[in-house]
Amino acid sequence: MQEITERLSYLHGLAEGLDIYEGKKEGRFFQELMVFITELNDELTHTKARLTELEEYVEAVDEDLNDLELDYYEEVDFDEYDDDDFLTDDELDLDFDDEYIDEIVCPHCHETVVLDSELEDNEIAEIVCPNCQEVFVVDNE
Ligand SMILES: [Zn+2]
Repeated sequence: MQEITERLSYLHGLAEGLDIYEGKKEGRFFQELMVFITELNDELTHTKARLTELEEYVEAVDEDLNDLELDYYEEVDFDEYDDDDFLTDDELDLDFDDEYIDEIVCPHCHETVVLDSELEDNEIAEIVCPNCQEVFVVDNE
């Protein structure tokens, strides 16, 4: 903005130096043009100042709102959680009538192995233990 004002002053000085404003009809035109551009620049400067005020105001309101949110939600920050921390609909929709195996104790290392998917009734599955890499068979009778 400062730069525009300086360039305007320079233009004005240039026009005066060339005697553009003196005498001829064109002089009147250029003089009016300079006045017009100067007024535009004043408006622009004013608008820019108002915009800066507004930005500072919005920032202050945003900070206040953030404080309120922290109070209201008792400082629970959901960004701290991964999606994995929340149960999916499938996990919540447990059917207790069906017996299924979802955890198996490895007969080799005795670690509990969680199955990716439920076994169907009478399904026989080969499981690779993620702990000891041994293969064992699960028979869901
Ligand atoms: Zn194992």
